[in-house]
Amino acid sequence: AGGVPADGADLHTAGCLEAARAAAAILRGGGSALDAAQRAVFVLEDLPVFNAGTGACLNAEGLVELDAALMEGAGLRAGAVCALPPFSHPIAIARAALEDGRHVLYAGDGAARFARDHGFEPSSSEAMTTAPARARWEASRAVRDLDPSTGFPGGTVGAVVRDAHGTVAAATSTGGLMNKRVGRVGDSPLLGAGTYADDEGGACSATGAGESIMRVALAKTAVDALRAGTRPEDAARAAIHTLGTRVGGTGGLILVDRDGRLGFARNTTAMTWAALGATLGETSGI
Ligand code: ASP
Repeated sequence: AGGVPADGADLHTAGCLEAARAAAAILRGGGSALDAAQRAVFVLEDLPVFNAGTGACLNAEGLVELDAALMEGAGLRAGAVCALPPFSHPIAIARAALEDGRHVLYAGDGAARFARDHGFEPSSSEAMTTAPARARWEASRAVRDLDPSTGFPGGTVGAVVRDAHGTVAAATSTGGLMNKRVGRVGDSPLLGAGTYADDEGGACSATGAGESIMRVALAKTAVDALRAGTRPEDAARAAIHTLGTRVGGTGGLILVDRDGRLGFARNTTAMTWAALGATLGETSGI
């Protein structure tokens, strides 16, 4: 969620569609909701127009520091990394944490050590920084408080999936906020804030002002509404309303319920999305 630049709208939409198609291919091949959500975010991490993986926002020292989480609604299994030094695919490291199962969330140098121990090759800030990300970083250094609805271009990526078994999954990956302080962790890797999945309700991935999103536990708020029987579009709208009215937060979220029904809401100027489903077909929007 944020303001998608006019000249970037087509690229953002095309990227979301590419990710949705990649996730659908995983499901058609017999993969799980978890596999599909991870795949969608993996694709988006590689696309330089988004604030995740390559092209991610830079911290106050001009370095890449990444957050990501992945959660499965069957058994509430989850894995996450935060303040991770440069690695191309934080979502794959979150998956390794989920499969390892001992801990849910790894931070900073410990997350990098976990990743290396599980066979992931470190990258570098130079290799992962695009020219537009560097330019936005330079521009943002003049601004103290970044507002995702106006000055901040957004671009955190997320996916929610429901598979044929009725299992749901959510995945989120981000570089966080441009020019954030070193060590700042956003909502994305925090279960219940930026990412949540529970087969008794559904799955949610959120984006926007992390400091506000975590204060209202946005993703859990939305999934709890699904659990109570609220329709996804109403649950999405109500959760974003809570974000705006309780803490003055700006952002957006995507939702899928246990029946595969979708919901989106945002109170920012834009949030590019794409959706794909057996009865739904293929659709996208901003
Ligand atoms: N929610 C992310 C964060 O605060 C930023 C974003 O969604 O663009 O880290």
